[in-house]
Amino acid sequence: MRRLRKAKIVATLGPASATQETIQALFEAGADVFRFNFSHGTHADHQERYRIVRAVERSVGRPIAILADLQGPKLRVSTFAEGKVTLIAGQEFTLDRDPTPGTNVRVCLPHPELFEVIAGGQSLLLDDGKIRLEVLDSDKKRIRTRVVNGGELSNRKGVNVPDAVLPIPALTEKDKADLAFALELGVDWVALSFVQRPEDVLEAKEIIGNRAGVLSKLEKPAALDQLDAIVQASDAIMVARGDLGVELPPERVPGVQKRILRVCRQHGKPIVIATQMLESMITMPVPTRAEASDVASAIYDGSDAVMLSAESASGAYPIEAVEMMNRIITEVEKDPLYRNMLDAQHETPLPNRGDAICSALRDVTSIVGAKATVTYTSSGHTSLRAARERPSAPIISITPKLGTARRLALVWGVHSTISDQVHNESAMVAAACQTAFDEGFAEAGDQIAITAGMPFGQPGSTNLLRLAEIWPTK
Ligand code: PGA
Ligand code: MN
Repeated sequence: MRRLRKAKIVATLGPASATQETIQALFEAGADVFRFNFSHGTHADHQERYRIVRAVERSVGRPIAILADLQGPKLRVSTFAEGKVTLIAGQEFTLDRDPTPGTNVRVCLPHPELFEVIAGGQSLLLDDGKIRLEVLDSDKKRIRTRVVNGGELSNRKGVNVPDAVLPIPALTEKDKADLAFALELGVDWVALSFVQRPEDVLEAKEIIGNRAGVLSKLEKPAALDQLDAIVQASDAIMVARGDLGVELPPERVPGVQKRILRVCRQHGKPIVIATQMLESMITMPVPTRAEASDVASAIYDGSDAVMLSAESASGAYPIEAVEMMNRIITEVEKDPLYRNMLDAQHETPLPNRGDAICSALRDVTSIVGAKATVTYTSSGHTSLRAARERPSAPIISITPKLGTARRLALVWGVHSTISDQVHNESAMVAAACQTAFDEGFAEAGDQIAITAGMPFGQPGSTNLLRLAEIWPTK
């Protein structure tokens, strides 16, 4: 089974996509990666989803990536005596450390770290930005504010602090417990929410080691100040436009998305564009024209993957949403303008052997019209560097490691396969040709371009480029 497109689809699982039948249908409709959102559901829910995705993986015979998305330090107000209050523009409202239930003039903010860093003149955004408070002054015990945009505020609504770098770790106690659980399950990627600094990523990597790839969600303006270092420290990036669009005015999100994309493409790090991509499909069987255009633009810009959140997790049309993304991506990739745009943004290879080989791979592929490229890889690194080149033919990745094959399901153009280590050049060529033929990428007489490292099986040794013609012995 092969996909006929290069960019990938990430689908979030939830109550609307909990059965084996639905998850298999989502895969068949085009989902390459399943996201488990640890802001919702119990460990038992995630464990059951894990079991089902692996059962689907066995049944379809293709490696599937599972992404565990940790909630991160999402700040919330405490509760109100009446459950909710109405704030009126112009009034004063205080956030304090008194656990007594709140009123229409005050509420508890159960995050003591915040009181030290919030200063007069800054803004606090409540409930996804619907309510805006301007800070008048603050001390260790209270933050006095004036309501700029009022509205109804109910128990435990989220608080965003766009103007400050918060002195809070990227992993809360809940995240640490969820992370240990997710690693025990065997997830392939871990997403970190509200990453602010490269150290946040390094701290998580210390715990995770190479058990999973680390994907940093960019949703804090502070992260943009150290964008390059965060991208370098991470294995992949998500433009998390939900919280990002609360912390930044919406008109700044498109430019920031393109800036993040450019940096990820430079470093060859997979990038996922997320949130509200087909939002209206939560309740409708078709998206708006603007949503279709948003997905298409992300693909034209060279993204590795686009993501569905509530559309697939809790919406009424999860399968239709994946089918729609699949159709939009396929249509873009047929457009000659797409190739022109990828070529125009082609990144310069770094001065090392692996990049030199992958750059040559891209050139020979287009010159001879190779039907597929084949990358032998152990860690996945060579397949990632080949993907960075955005070659005109699909990238068949051959690895002996199941974990590598699964992780690469997120990456542009990569079709992962698992196969034993080869030990000499003729075996390498034979296995590459056989795989390209068996998986439906090339027929007798077609050319393929192969990269590998010699001595075989030594990570980081990519030094070989080989053209081969398919002539399988049937
Ligand atoms: P979330 O992340 O759904 O976990 O909040 C995505 C986003 O903020 O866009
Ligand atoms: Mn978020």
